[in-house]
Amino acid sequence: MKTLVLGGGVVGVTTAYFLAKAGHEVTVVEEKDGLGLEATAANAGIIAPGHSFAWASPRAPRMLWQSLRGAETAIRVRLAPDLRLYTWGLRFLRECTAERARRNTLIKLRLCQYSQAVMNELVRTERLEYHAITKGALYLYRDPAELEAGTKKMALLAEHGQKQEILDASEVAKLDPVFEPVRSKIAGAIRDLGDSSGDARVFVENLARICRDRFGVAFRLGARVTALRAAADRIDAAVTTQGALTADNYVLALGVGAPIVARTAGVRLPIYPAKGYSSTFPLKPGGLAPTIPGVDEQWLVGWSRLGDQLRLTSTAEFAGYDWGWTPRDFNNILRLARDLFPDAADYERGQYRACLRPMTPDGPPILGLGRHRNLFLNCGHGHMGWTMACGTARTVADLMTGRMPELDLEGLTPRR
Ligand SMILES: Cc1cc2nc3c(=O)[nH]c(=O)nc-3n(C[C@H](O)[C@H](O)[C@H](O)COP(=O)(O)OP(=O)(O)OC[C@H]3O[C@@H](n4cnc5c(N)ncnc54)[C@H](O)[C@@H]3O)c2cc1C
Repeated sequence: MKTLVLGGGVVGVTTAYFLAKAGHEVTVVEEKDGLGLEATAANAGIIAPGHSFAWASPRAPRMLWQSLRGAETAIRVRLAPDLRLYTWGLRFLRECTAERARRNTLIKLRLCQYSQAVMNELVRTERLEYHAITKGALYLYRDPAELEAGTKKMALLAEHGQKQEILDASEVAKLDPVFEPVRSKIAGAIRDLGDSSGDARVFVENLARICRDRFGVAFRLGARVTALRAAADRIDAAVTTQGALTADNYVLALGVGAPIVARTAGVRLPIYPAKGYSSTFPLKPGGLAPTIPGVDEQWLVGWSRLGDQLRLTSTAEFAGYDWGWTPRDFNNILRLARDLFPDAADYERGQYRACLRPMTPDGPPILGLGRHRNLFLNCGHGHMGWTMACGTARTVADLMTGRMPELDLEGLTPRR
């Protein structure tokens, strides 16, 4: 069975792995000259079932309203003459009830937990190196009242299988000495013991090598998919800048590129970009750097140590397909880095970029068959694609090879 996997990010490459292992003849098509260079290379690195909360929640509409009035909120929107933003936005607002937020969170949590189990098995089998840190993740609070509110919120995940500890400032400092000099600045943290971190791009590079060497997967780099050619209920070809490519099956794993390419075959996917800012700094030799990944829940900056580098990311901005950034966009990140980790890294030598998360209005990704019998969807992973990639890849590969997926697909199939 010949299969084209469109997209060489973490979702595409993990899908290629499971398909090739199941006997498919796989080619991955990627427009960049390397693999995992988009959202995969920019994320905070946290593998975080403990952060499964749906963005569409009862708090979100107020936040968006404040953002429109110029406030520095966690989720921001920049109004633009883009119909897709408004249709997507209306669907997002519909998901903002308490009941839907709970439902969507639990769908995401179920997928994240499954994905983590699949990933652990893959890493063990293939002895994959990706700068993993498996000591949980810290959700840090500056204010005691916020810590209490956060603890109540996190209870939903604890009730559904996440192991958590509530730590005061001195316990946080004992766990990760980087917080000892700044103890007075924090109220405490919730530690999710099941979370971990690692470098998604390194993971992709190493997994791609296994795919190529062991399973004969081909990687067609520098090929931009411009359209899907459909005939009745089948896809005939993926039209690319290197010509039309044909196969028996096609997997759409293009991140934020998925809705654009899908539309050429008449498929509408409710995926819109949420821009984030990502920075990477070299660790200072002998400096005091974080040893556990985390998120500052007040300043909304995530961090993790990726080998000899410190990654910090922030912000979710609905601003269309805009990868632009200015130094000002990183003020928040640098302020936090110098406040909590002043001695960790060389902040004069940062690498900066903006990147786009492929968001669905409700939060869970879109998996499986749409209206074409040989076009499989694996897209819309939003703010958690690194966490979800292995689970969604395994599930889509199972669907394509006629195996019953272990994951309950409720809430994860194409939505109308
Ligand atoms: C700032 C930030 C922080 C994040 N932090 C976390 C985190 O801590 N934990 C977590 O789990 N997730 C996190 N994420 C989310 C995660 O990075 C994404 O969900 C994940 O990378 C999505 O993977 P993907 O393979 O679908 O997309 P991508 O990694 O974007 O890959 C898509 C690939 O398709 C290619 N492509 C697109 N269009 C075309 C085309 N027309 N033709 C050919 N190729 C094309 C792109 O070049 C790209 O290589 C974060 C994201 C951002 C932006």
